[in-house]
Amino acid sequence: MFGFFSARKKAESIIRALPVADITGAKAGPTLLVTAGLDGDEYAGIEAAYAAAEKYSDGNFSGRLIILPLVNMPGFEAGVSHNPLDKKFPKYCIPGRAHGSPTERLMYYIVQTCARSAVLWLDLHSGARDEITTSCLWNDITGVPEVDARGELFTQHSGALAAVREHAGRRSKALAAYDCAYVLAESEDATQHMRYIERAMQQLGMLAGQPPTETIRIFTKTRDMYTLAEEIKTGEVLLWHKTAPSARKGERAGEIAYDELKG
Ligand SMILES: [Zn+2]
Repeated sequence: MFGFFSARKKAESIIRALPVADITGAKAGPTLLVTAGLDGDEYAGIEAAYAAAEKYSDGNFSGRLIILPLVNMPGFEAGVSHNPLDKKFPKYCIPGRAHGSPTERLMYYIVQTCARSAVLWLDLHSGARDEITTSCLWNDITGVPEVDARGELFTQHSGALAAVREHAGRRSKALAAYDCAYVLAESEDATQHMRYIERAMQQLGMLAGQPPTETIRIFTKTRDMYTLAEEIKTGEVLLWHKTAPSARKGERAGEIAYDELKG
């Protein structure tokens, strides 16, 4: 069920090597973009994205499902989060640049060919090889009402334990201008990633049924943790942390969400 962007002869190797499952559903509907492996060493999301392509390959849904299960192939092959070709992290290069470095060109290609037609971009992540993450979401506030409402609705029904809603940087703002809501979804569990995809499809009306409403804690601020021994205060949530103390001084050991929205 997987193809490659190889039809584009002029495309460079990093784009030609990008696996894609582009599935058109039986009925008309919106487009959902699912990506994984932007960080090349985060395997739960990659596993789930491949499984989802298999699961929905029959097209028994409304709309269009685009799955890019392994965006950062060079990073995956090297067992690292970043892209060794230019040492950049794909997630920080969105919306990319047409004539930038290899990662910037890759992300530009994905934004222009996939994200621009999608109403929601679900970007699956997990802890890197030396990290553990909570089931949580990053869903920025862009100031574009329809985009923010769509992202927030998914967040409410995602099944994640916590979400961070901060004011958007360049990435989410650029995508909002294309009417695409961007959600970065974390979990160590491929089953939870499958659930994210299913809930997104339900939320968008691509699958029948309403996703259940669960309690999700929503935070407006985060702070870095520089030692694994740092105390987590009442009302805070540890979003991710390293599995071992860092050898390098000053390196982040984790991240804590605080300032919970009371609703
Ligand atoms: Zn990641």
